[in-house]
Amino acid sequence: MAGPREKPIIGIDLGTTNACVAHVRSRIPRVVPTDRGNLILPSVVALSERGEFLVGGVAKDQLVVNPKNTIYGAKRLIGRKWNSRVVQELRNYYSYDIVEGPAGEAAVLLGGQVYTLPQISAFVLAHIKKIAEAFLQRDIPEAIISVPAYYSDAQRQAVREAGKLAGFDVKRIVNEPTAAALAYGFSRGLDQKILVYDLGGGTFDVSVLQLSGNVFEVLATGGDTFLGGVDFDNRIIDYALEEFWQQHKIDLAQSPIAMQRVKNGAEAAKIDLSLIPNAVIDLPFLEERKGRPLDLRLPLSRQRLEELTHDLVERTFDLCDEVLAERRLSPKDIDEVILVGGQSRMPLVQEKIREHFGRPARKGVHPDECVALGAALLGDSLDTIDSVTLVDVLSMPIGIATPTAHMRRVLDKNTTIPSTKSFRLPPPREPGQPIEIDIYQGESDLIVDNEFLGSIRLPAAATGRRIDFKLDEECLLKVSFDDPAKGMTALELATRDTPEALKRALADAAQARAPAAGPEGAEKEKRGGGLFGWLKRG
Ligand code: AMP
Repeated sequence: MAGPREKPIIGIDLGTTNACVAHVRSRIPRVVPTDRGNLILPSVVALSERGEFLVGGVAKDQLVVNPKNTIYGAKRLIGRKWNSRVVQELRNYYSYDIVEGPAGEAAVLLGGQVYTLPQISAFVLAHIKKIAEAFLQRDIPEAIISVPAYYSDAQRQAVREAGKLAGFDVKRIVNEPTAAALAYGFSRGLDQKILVYDLGGGTFDVSVLQLSGNVFEVLATGGDTFLGGVDFDNRIIDYALEEFWQQHKIDLAQSPIAMQRVKNGAEAAKIDLSLIPNAVIDLPFLEERKGRPLDLRLPLSRQRLEELTHDLVERTFDLCDEVLAERRLSPKDIDEVILVGGQSRMPLVQEKIREHFGRPARKGVHPDECVALGAALLGDSLDTIDSVTLVDVLSMPIGIATPTAHMRRVLDKNTTIPSTKSFRLPPPREPGQPIEIDIYQGESDLIVDNEFLGSIRLPAAATGRRIDFKLDEECLLKVSFDDPAKGMTALELATRDTPEALKRALADAAQARAPAAGPEGAEKEKRGGGLFGWLKRG
């Protein structure tokens, strides 16, 4: 049997809402409690009114009074370009300022200063390191960090960078569903097909894995990066705002502090309703009129919550079926369903799992903890004789831009990693000019909808030479080129600038979206649905 690792290692699940950290002792993975004695740490970083940096629960506590200087949801921004569609949409919803960083990436303003997302996540990771070191009473130099399966190459690189900034030697970036599967099946000698259903704060992620002993093979993965707990909260918020409007003809959305309190109240009621059939959103002194306080007191039943959100739950099952269909599987082929993510605790979700898969979700795998536990198990098993074999897949295609701003796929979705695809370099666009290749990742055929990963530039003389796109076991892209003088040579991706083709495509897309009413109208249009939809009627 393998002895304990020389260097202790921890597994970190860096979630959109919360982070969780685990270590392995005597071959049993355990969660490390936070400084407040909890098992999860809010992934929130803030600058207090007095100029102190706050991380975790204390940072989250001051969100209501200091929303501009409280950074949450960093996981949705990290590794994305500032001008990407996702970032531009999130700017409408987040209470802090999202700005363009030094390399054209999304960054945030905290106390008037620009911070990159790896820097923000590094605050959380450094705090985790401190907590783990205090708890385990030794240095923890190494970590495994989990990321969503759908994370692009740029997002994975950015998480790695955050880990490094926090002082970790990041031994491995692992996909969250794979880590969850490890927590369930590690060293149990199973031969099963499992489905990991991960409904977290901001995203829904589904993966199907084949477990054969300690070989964990991902068969297919998919989901929706814009479907999660906040969408459930938003339905309750819309309902509460509408009620308040009906009673008082006051638009609470105009008051950031009132809105934050409504958001907190809505989420708390939603969580209560997972346990009890009736809850009340009780928010005294939410607004005032002529010096008189106006309260919000809104009873909410589980049944009403289910009416408000059942379509969101239905959508998760459509996505499960889509992912299964990619491998010609159906729900009856699944031996176990593993739940991950806080929102999967909703009773309606569990009921529908039973209906859809003909069996209840697996009990005993804790939805908030299993990713960190699995990451810790993976860390502990590295370099040991009974180590695990992970066979993962690429969750989003990678390709290169064509002159018409389309994406030509080089590596397809669900390609098993590690993997290499080769192609021959096309001639330069203009004779005598260098060859420029812009690389993108995403599902769309149009580059404008995908994430720009970077560019490579080679002399015109390289036309027709071989180029390799290699995905390593962490799903990171390595590009190399058959140099006539040196043989296969690794190339650095340049990511500083936005390629001209993308700039043009973004400008065209913005123009196509802008309604006649001008920028103000465009803003309203964007907010048309969801959270702000009812305002149109007000
Ligand atoms: P995660 O990203 O996994 O931390 O999930 C956080 C999301 O789960 C948030 O939207 C929470 O409101 C939601 N959540 C946490 N606990 C529960 C619960 N018991 N019932 C329903 N949703 C929950």
